[in-house]
Amino acid sequence: MKVLKFGGTSIGTPSKIKNLTKIININDKNIIVLSAFSGTTNKLLEIINENKKIKYRCLLIEKLYNEYILFINELFTENKEYINKALLIINKSFDIIKKSDIKLSKNILAQGEIISSNILYLYLTSINIKCHIISALDFMKIDENYEPIFDFIKNKINNIINNNIDKYNLFITQGYICKNIDNEIDNLKRGGSDYTASIIGYALNSTEVQIWTDIDGMHNNDPRIIKNTNYIPELSFDSAAELSYFGAKILHPCSVLPAQKKKYQ
Ligand code: ADP
Ligand code: ASP
Ligand code: MG
Repeated sequence: MKVLKFGGTSIGTPSKIKNLTKIININDKNIIVLSAFSGTTNKLLEIINENKKIKYRCLLIEKLYNEYILFINELFTENKEYINKALLIINKSFDIIKKSDIKLSKNILAQGEIISSNILYLYLTSINIKCHIISALDFMKIDENYEPIFDFIKNKINNIINNNIDKYNLFITQGYICKNIDNEIDNLKRGGSDYTASIIGYALNSTEVQIWTDIDGMHNNDPRIIKNTNYIPELSFDSAAELSYFGAKILHPCSVLPAQKKKYQ
């Protein structure tokens, strides 16, 4: 099974979601790991941080909600009966986002990935692509040092996939989100969907982990700062880890490790 991770930048608009069907081979066994739509996690953080200025907070929530309404109306133009189904997904998440209890912060942050993955599932279903959505909260777990508990994850995800592999080729799950040792909703830190993808690749003994984003690959410098950077066609695990550790946003710094570990087993 291959792991295909799509970052917020590659799924941030309805047309980009529609484009995914051209990338995924539905006859192969694949698991898609999805980030929140681009900008959502930043906006959720802003909402969480504005928990004292209630009016401004409500305004931010309303603005984000309206963006999602526009999104689903455009995504389901050819299948309008799915708009109401998508609305249920969005309303359920926004019921949590609207709560200003600070204890719910991590749950609020998780709604970005929960919405995007459920919307993708609904979209694929609407165009008759059979797929199965699995909740990362059922298998992705971190310990008291915020490190993934590999044995637990391996066991859980293999069980879930094995129980469904005869019925489905395509699985969808959320990046970034997890449960912690106290069984509360938590996350793998900013940019953590890359890490989710490589942890899953390790746990499922995958042949490939693909990270799809808005750039053609790892460059020799940060293209947001330096002009005329060059794409590096092949990199060792160590160099990739080093580049990401020193700030190359294209990869979560920990995400190289599980793939590297697998290679030398
Ligand atoms: P995603 O939402 O898909 O996870 P990110 O914004 O996290 O995307 O990562 C992709 C971005 O990383 C690129 O658009 C690019 O601007 C930035 N980036 C920073 N350093 C590098 C680098 N060395 N090589 C490639 N991209 C880089
Ligand atoms: N949505 C999360 C973030 O923006 C995780 C990710 O995109 O990888 O940090
Ligand atoms: Mg990223």
